Amino acid sequence: MAEVRVNASVSDLTRIERIGAHSHIRGLGLDDALEARAVSQGLVGQTSARKAAGVITQMIKEGKIAGRGVLLAGQPGTGKTAIAMGIAKSLGAETPFAMIAASEIFSMEMSKTEALTQAIGVKIKEETELIEGEVVEVEIDRPASGQMAKTVTAGDVVAIDKASGKVTKLGRSFARSRDYDAMGALGGLLSVWWGRAPPPKFVQCPDGELQKRREVVHVVSLHEIDVINSRQQGFLALFAGDTGEIRPEVREQIDGKVAEWREEGKAEIVPGVLFIDEVHMLDIECFSFLNRALESDMAPILVVATNRGITKIRGTAYRAPHGIPIDLLDRLLIINTQPYSEKEIRKILDIRTEEEDVEVADDAKDLLTKIGVETSLRYAIQLISAAALVAQKRKAAAVGVEDISRAYTLFLDVQRSEYAQEYMYNEAEGADGEQD
Ligand code: ATP
Repeated sequence: MAEVRVNASVSDLTRIERIGAHSHIRGLGLDDALEARAVSQGLVGQTSARKAAGVITQMIKEGKIAGRGVLLAGQPGTGKTAIAMGIAKSLGAETPFAMIAASEIFSMEMSKTEALTQAIGVKIKEETELIEGEVVEVEIDRPASGQMAKTVTAGDVVAIDKASGKVTKLGRSFARSRDYDAMGALGGLLSVWWGRAPPPKFVQCPDGELQKRREVVHVVSLHEIDVINSRQQGFLALFAGDTGEIRPEVREQIDGKVAEWREEGKAEIVPGVLFIDEVHMLDIECFSFLNRALESDMAPILVVATNRGITKIRGTAYRAPHGIPIDLLDRLLIINTQPYSEKEIRKILDIRTEEEDVEVADDAKDLLTKIGVETSLRYAIQLISAAALVAQKRKAAAVGVEDISRAYTLFLDVQRSEYAQEYMYNEAEGADGEQD
């Protein structure tokens, strides 16, 4: 159990907060009645989708949405990922939130099960069998009976066996202070210090049992426990990035162990959120896996997003809304995102320029907004940093119209890209997203 003291933020999947494009989003921007404020916490407009996302977040917090999921559907660049990010932020760090693009599920590195286990958190209450640490204080609460099992003094580094109460002296730490005699298994109060965690205090009771005084609670993902237990170097595997495929035997063992901890009241399952972007890229096998996985009591809450309408379900000859089989679609609450108005695009660009710390003149912002309306919001956002470099080159304090124009001619948007018509959305009639 001791190995679970690890940095819980290390993981294979992209944790959503690392995504620079959405770094300006700090929540869903809702008031207490879950109404969306026009501009708040980095989010602009899209008020009904944000309100719906707020209701979902509330349901997740209250544990009322097990076995179901959410589908964010809307045109490209309408803030589906941004809203998923808002959900993650409002849930807080205690709820695991893993993000994956559908295509990643097909990579050799990760199995479908593994993607799911990364979004399942396990809250573990510290319950060590063997405590190792430095004795910072020793108090005798019963007179010595002459049968001293072991003498420990403050500054000793000891290991205490929880079952027998046996104290083994491992050595001395450099911080030597007053010496006391302790009774080991016979009595006495030991306060041990371990690592940088808050000092866990263990009281030795008359019956010789060591009892916890302070509880240390960790939240780790099920995947992290798998990794720790399947690699020789223990929890260091997480830092080494050696988190490849988890063998099914290990998976089963861990499930058994976690079930045992739950029964003993040592662990609690915290279903997190698994966000799958471009969900229409999944094939029928993945969909049926997800359908089944949603039925397990350890299932994370599934949030998926797509910008496709009626599309062929990969791996079949059938068409379905969003390319998702009807039986799975039936379990999803659908949130629609709408295209932005010019005013909203302007506001989002204002927020992004501030986030990227780029000074942009008003008329240049007008031009950038026009570009956003005529091409796409994402393209306009991307021009900010390119234009900033152009302005820097001519040693200007702020980005001007000429810098935006220069960046606009240097980098093409999709419509102006010469071969766009040949390689974008140009599948044979009726092929609808089928890649193979
Ligand atoms: P796609 O279908 O192409 O995946 P999407 O709907 O997921 O697109 P996003 O990636 O969320 O779109 O949005 C594009 C960019 O605009 C991102 O940088 C995002 O943070 C920002 N953005 C989108 N909507 C909003 C909003 N309502 N408020 C603030 N920023 C937004």
